[in-house]
Amino acid sequence: MMLEIQKAAQIIQEGGLVAFPTETVYGLGADALNPYAVAEIFEVKNRPQFDPLIVHVADMRQADILVQKFPALALKLVEKFWPGPLTVVLPKSPMVPDIVTSSLPTVAVRVPNHPLALDLIRESGRPIAAPSANPFGAVSPTTAGHVRNSLGSKVEVILDGGPCSVGVESTIVSFMDKEPVLLRPGGAPLEEIQALIGQVRVQTTAAEKPLAPGQLPQHYAPRTPLVLDESLENLPEGKKIGLLTLREPRDSTPFTAVEVLSYKGDLKEAAANLFAALRRLDEKGLDLLLAHPVPHEGLGRAINDRLYKASHKNQL
Ligand code: AMP
Ligand code: MG
Repeated sequence: MMLEIQKAAQIIQEGGLVAFPTETVYGLGADALNPYAVAEIFEVKNRPQFDPLIVHVADMRQADILVQKFPALALKLVEKFWPGPLTVVLPKSPMVPDIVTSSLPTVAVRVPNHPLALDLIRESGRPIAAPSANPFGAVSPTTAGHVRNSLGSKVEVILDGGPCSVGVESTIVSFMDKEPVLLRPGGAPLEEIQALIGQVRVQTTAAEKPLAPGQLPQHYAPRTPLVLDESLENLPEGKKIGLLTLREPRDSTPFTAVEVLSYKGDLKEAAANLFAALRRLDEKGLDLLLAHPVPHEGLGRAINDRLYKASHKNQL
C-alpha cells in the first residue's frame, strides 16, 4: 500500500477531504457517513445549494449496506458494469446522512474502476461521497493538474492517477419507478444498458429533452462563451474563434485554434479527451468557442450532453 494512500485514507477517517482519480473524472471525496465532512465538500466547491452526491464504494457488499434493496434489474446492471462508469439510484438506508442525498429518500452509488480510488475506499474503510473535484459549474477535471490549478489551495491531498481513461461522468440510472430511468448519459452507453435490461425511460435535462435554455443550470462550462452548432454560418466577423470537433475539419481557416477529439472519429477516445480539450481552448484567450455536436450514440450522448450544458447561455 502506497504511503500516500495511507495518509489520504487517514484524512478521510478524520473527516477531511481528498481529491482522487476515478476512470470518469477526478473526485473530491469525504467520508459519506460523516455529515460535517460532506458539508466541507460543498464549501470547497462553492456549490450554491446542496446537490445530492454519488457515494463511491469498493464492492457490492459495501453498496448493499447503503441501500434498502437492490431490485433485480439493478443487480443485473451492476453485475455487468461494476467496477465502472455506472451509478444506480436506489432507496437509501437510514444510515446515509441527508446532506449526501439532499434529503431525498434515495442514494446514488457506484463502484469506480480505478485502483487508487478502490485502494482509498478500502484503506479508509468508509464509503466516499464525491462530486467532481472542480469549482461548481466549471469544466470537470480529468488530470491531477486540473484539480491542483482550481482547488490546490483548498485541498490538502490530491492523489495523482494520470489522465482519466473514460473522461466523462458516470451514467446514472434510477430504479425508483416501475421502469428504470436514465437521469444522466455518461460513460456506460445507453444502448448496452438497454440491451441488458430492456426499455429505459430517458429523463435528462440535456440534449435529449431540451427545455428553454434559461431553465437549465449551466454546467461543465468554460469561461469563453461556447456555441454548439453544426454549421459555420453565422460566425461573427473579426473574432478569435476556437473549434472543438470530433474529426479534423475540412476547413480550419476561420479558426484561431482547433481541438480534434478523435482523428479516427472514435467516441470513446473523444470522451476521454473532451474536458482537457475544452480547457486548452479556454486558456487561449479566444472570443468564442464553436463546438460541433457528435453522433448521438454510445458515448456521443454523454459528450453532447456536456457540450449542451456548457453552451446553452451562448446562442449566437
Ligand atoms: P457529480 O457528482 O458532479 O457527478 O453529480 C452527481 C449527479 O448525481 C447529479 O447530477 C445528481 O443530481 C445525481 N444524483 C446524486 N444522487 C442522486 C439521487 N439520490 N437521486 C437522483 N440523482 C442523484
Ligand atoms: Mg460535476
